[in-house]
Amino acid sequence: MTRVFNFSAGPAALPESVLRQAADEMLDWQGSGMSVMEMSHRGKEFIAIHAEAESLLRELLGIPPNYKVLFMQGGAIGENAIVPMNMLRGKTSADYVDTGEWSKKSIKEAKKYGRINVAASSADTGYTSIPARQTWKLDPDAAYVHICSNETIGGVEYHFTPDVGAVPLVADMSSDILSRPVDVSKYGLIYGGAQKNIGPAGLTIVIVRDDLIGQALPITPSAFDYKQQADNDSMLNTPPTYAIYIAGLVFRWIKAQGGLAAMEAHNRAKAALLYDFLDTSGFYRCPVARDCRSLMNVPFKLKDEGLDEAFLKGAKERAMVQLKGHRSVGGMRASIYNAMPLAGVQALVAYMKDFEKAHG
Ligand SMILES: *Cc1c(COP(=O)(O)O)cnc(C)c1O
Repeated sequence: MTRVFNFSAGPAALPESVLRQAADEMLDWQGSGMSVMEMSHRGKEFIAIHAEAESLLRELLGIPPNYKVLFMQGGAIGENAIVPMNMLRGKTSADYVDTGEWSKKSIKEAKKYGRINVAASSADTGYTSIPARQTWKLDPDAAYVHICSNETIGGVEYHFTPDVGAVPLVADMSSDILSRPVDVSKYGLIYGGAQKNIGPAGLTIVIVRDDLIGQALPITPSAFDYKQQADNDSMLNTPPTYAIYIAGLVFRWIKAQGGLAAMEAHNRAKAALLYDFLDTSGFYRCPVARDCRSLMNVPFKLKDEGLDEAFLKGAKERAMVQLKGHRSVGGMRASIYNAMPLAGVQALVAYMKDFEKAHG
């Protein structure tokens, strides 16, 4: 068996030890005689798995007791509709900050449910920056302010938590949740799909302050009503049980690594290695402004895009895959989430140097 260094943006690499444990427990979870996939979501075994996953997530992120943790489905794209349905709360409009492909999608979907004010946009920089907070045109009567904390495609990440006053801050954290400590109390709601930094696709994490729920639009499907899900421990419908189990194993792994502070140090070391190399090279370049470069997704371009195919082919020969950039941006993108070891980034930089020597 050979495992590759998988630089996929999502679904993405998982810690190998988690996959091994899941493999060991596949046919018989801890003497139950069955796979987690085969368990009733209301049975005592799965209830324990679910409770442990929630409690580890609360511990890792330091989630205050007045926040609900929901394990839902529908992904972040589902949340693009579910958020306005739940969070408009009788108000007519919400503010959105436009920093790239994912915030554009959020804005487009939210417009089906309310008046959406684009409070700031970095479109004028080709989405290579985050608009300075002082330039945001916020409406004090907005139901909430929505940001995407890490633009997975553009590789642009907030390195500050914007102060938006009394209006609840809502963040799509799909691609940087658990990559570093976060002060959850500064947010009204945090959501994210699991398949970048947490576990398998199919699970969506929602962390929401409890005073903000219970006023969903009447058209809201029950399965997507935060209050109904909170009142039912996220089991109004059958939750994505296997994905929750794997997420729980990943949470344990993060804790064993030293928690989110250790994750941040690990992620900073990997990102620094790659960005420092990009900045010293005349052959490769990263288009993103330095103060908002993502620790998770590193887009870069070769001087001559005619070499892109050869670069990808050579990477594959060295067991490094999924480096092709998103079609909307072109070039390359290395996604280096929590589970990517430092050795993976070292191997990538070594390869990039060799490729430059051969083609530069
Ligand atoms: C991947 C991603 C999404 C889309 O998530 P789905 O699970 O496919 O719905 C949305 N926002 C961000 C920031 C992402 O990285």
